Amino acid sequence: MAHINANYLNIKESYLFSEVANRANKYKAENPGADVIRLGIGDVTRPLCPAVIEALHSAVNDMSETETFKGYGPEQGYGFLKESLRAYYAEKGVELDIDEIFVSDGAKSDLGNILDIFSKDNVVLVPDPVYPVYVDTNIMDGRKIVYLSANESNNFLPLPDENIKADLIYICSPNNPTGACYNREQLTQWVAYARKNNSVILYDAAYECFVSDDSLPRSIYEIEGAKECAIEFCSFSKTAGFTGTRCGYTVVPFALERDGHKLNKFWLRRQTTKFNGVSYIVQKAAAAVFTEEGKKQIYENINYYKENAKTITDTLDRLGIWYCGGKHSPYIWFRCPDNMGSWEFFDALLSKANVVGTPGEGFGENGKGYFRLTSFSTHENTKEAMKRFEKAFGNNG
Ligand code: PLP
Repeated sequence: MAHINANYLNIKESYLFSEVANRANKYKAENPGADVIRLGIGDVTRPLCPAVIEALHSAVNDMSETETFKGYGPEQGYGFLKESLRAYYAEKGVELDIDEIFVSDGAKSDLGNILDIFSKDNVVLVPDPVYPVYVDTNIMDGRKIVYLSANESNNFLPLPDENIKADLIYICSPNNPTGACYNREQLTQWVAYARKNNSVILYDAAYECFVSDDSLPRSIYEIEGAKECAIEFCSFSKTAGFTGTRCGYTVVPFALERDGHKLNKFWLRRQTTKFNGVSYIVQKAAAAVFTEEGKKQIYENINYYKENAKTITDTLDRLGIWYCGGKHSPYIWFRCPDNMGSWEFFDALLSKANVVGTPGEGFGENGKGYFRLTSFSTHENTKEAMKRFEKAFGNNG
């Protein structure tokens, strides 16, 4: 008789976004005339930039000619894209070998799949609140999870605690859902902790492109010694609008060894066995992101979202509401006005301002009483939403 992986029974129903949709749809049905603005989604709205579209067309043409047609490609990615990625890291002062870079269909897949190369006995440290994928993928494997409290007193940037030991440590900076971003000194503390305890940091840099200040790190490898203790995950999803096109990359340095083995070799074996690689067409599109025009165009989109973030944070500033994020992230995380609970505020925002956001408690216990808005909407909708927010929750509201 076949048996199930009973760990799946321990995963909490992911009801957050379905409950958000249910409540918003119910409100729409009861108030058909209401112009509801959605600032809850974590998906981009701006289309792929022209340089990427051009590369896609040209790669499709390549597939139509015998001379340029591509069949199975290297599972770990084509050399042309890995070279572009290597050059991109070099701009941040990080020297990588091309074989330390693995191209994939996105950060979510790799964040889950990387666990294949780690023992199920490892203890995992995740911050709370957290991107739910870190938690669920470890529950699927039956690993023990310990939580680290991110809260207002540490600006939602928890630092290592020598009393809490862990083998695998998740760090997401700039963070989803809080938008908080670690500085060099703080990341240096994490690297020191990981090296001392022989832990491995799983560093999620999916939002690195939103970092506005050059003094803040965009890669963990900007910190000395990180190559010996960290794997980095990154994505074209939010950087270049690839959420539907699908491409990401993971860096596993040669210097990273545990139990006397190079993790790079294990990951290569895992990927060449279980992963088919990303299509040639998509990799060509991803490489176009690093051309001069590509870079200019994707930053136009990123800056567009950043202007929305500023519209949101300016409003919160005026209302005197505590928040983090926004400056180096598309996410703005704030304390619900009038000490409301997350879902209570969700309902109040929907009914008083016709705006949909995401209740913080959907990301963990510490999200209770907090709320997340995203900047992935249009200027017009963001401005209108924040005008209504201010009217509803300002002093005169
Ligand atoms: N990591 C974080 C923190 C995210 O918020 C997301 C997507 O929202 C991802 C990873 C997933 O990225 P990808 O689309 O590349 O799978």
